[in-house]
Amino acid sequence: MSGNSPNSGLIVVIGGGFGGLTTALSLVRHRPNTSVVLIEPRSKFVFLPLLYELLSGELKRWEVAPSYSSLLKGKGIVLVEEYVEKIDINKKQVFTSLNKIINYHKLVIATGSKPDALGVPGVFENALMFNQLNDVEILKGLISRMNSSCDNRKTIIIVGAGATGVELACKISDLLSEDITINLIEIGDRVLPKSHSFNQEQAEQALNKRRIKILLRTRVLRVNRDNVQIQNVAQSDSQNVSLGYAGLIWTAGVKPTVPLGIASEFFSEERLVIDSSLRVKGAEDVFAIGDIACDLNSLSMGTAQLAMQHGEVAAQNIIALCEKRPLNHFEYVDRGEMLSLGIGKATITGLGITISGPLAFRLRRLAYLSKMPSLSLGIRSAGSWFLPLDGKKAF
Ligand SMILES: Cc1cc2nc3c(=O)[nH]c(=O)nc-3n(C[C@H](O)[C@H](O)[C@H](O)COP(=O)(O)OP(=O)(O)OC[C@H]3O[C@@H](n4cnc5c(N)ncnc54)[C@H](O)[C@@H]3O)c2cc1C
Repeated sequence: MSGNSPNSGLIVVIGGGFGGLTTALSLVRHRPNTSVVLIEPRSKFVFLPLLYELLSGELKRWEVAPSYSSLLKGKGIVLVEEYVEKIDINKKQVFTSLNKIINYHKLVIATGSKPDALGVPGVFENALMFNQLNDVEILKGLISRMNSSCDNRKTIIIVGAGATGVELACKISDLLSEDITINLIEIGDRVLPKSHSFNQEQAEQALNKRRIKILLRTRVLRVNRDNVQIQNVAQSDSQNVSLGYAGLIWTAGVKPTVPLGIASEFFSEERLVIDSSLRVKGAEDVFAIGDIACDLNSLSMGTAQLAMQHGEVAAQNIIALCEKRPLNHFEYVDRGEMLSLGIGKATITGLGITISGPLAFRLRRLAYLSKMPSLSLGIRSAGSWFLPLDGKKAF
């Protein structure tokens, strides 16, 4: 690939997560002769919304994390299993970790996000994260140690009561013996601050039923090896309190991860600023999608369904550019929210449906897995999030 012709017409997609994989598959599906290179360092795609079911053993590893080789087989997409170090937008080149230089005609950046400590000292040294396959094994080890331990420090702390924190708290609670306490810490005044009220209520009920202690309006100041320093933000004169733990999971923040080399003028709050066609403002051959994209006219960001909808429209617009047709404007279609709430239970809000309990769990699972293990189809099923909207397709 090194030194390929600058005019090769090559479309390079960086990152094979929800946005990038959708783009690459959609490009070859709609224009089979398109030359597409997907650059992704991991060997397996991870269906992050189902990571909780992998933890609980409700799903198998191959269902949640199929290999890229199986997903891309026969699709005509070239997979480069490397990490992109740097991008040169002026020369239209991408530099990989193994020193490949790839000339692109059009570029899609879909590198997603990674956990962020939000400036709190001690997080990366002491906390577990929950955003990749290995984290599941580490957490399983902790659960098993705690269940069999005679240690009296039987507390798990989860920081952040967004979707990941709440789903994890319920699932872990169902896996732990009853004498273990779970503290869920949230700086806001309600769990799931960004969610639909029905899902908030269902989540609160599920947490209360499991006797998970919810500490709202609470800021974590520092994470030490076996305790956290916390402060109540509702009272200006409140004293710092120390809370001991045997295991701590940090779900409080994420930050976008963009390869080096792109000038600061293209960014707003660490995300690449895009126009309504999903092109990076000021760089007409470069698209930015998913978690790393910043649309100044929209509030929606940071979900798999947004990344997949971006991926479909980015592919559509690249084809339009190649065929010298006008570009489409991206319009986000909110297709609802599904959360797992412990083993065998879930809540769903969207498309006029509000449902919780075991039926919601089965619907959620069906929506995600209906076309597994061929995720090239499965991703489309989840991409329709979760049912077709009045027959309207995103692409
Ligand atoms: C546990 C968990 C549960 C979630 N549940 C839900 C949910 O239920 N619903 C929902 O809508 N969202 C959910 N999300 C959020 C959702 O997963 C993200 O918003 C979504 O993955 C973003 O898609 P993306 O394509 O931008 O990035 P990602 O899907 O993160 O993909 C980025 C890819 O880029 C690769 N990459 C990174 N840097 C480079 C580089 N320099 N070179 C090459 N490749 C690179 C990475 O390896 C990765 O494969 C969840 C997230 C987590 C962590």
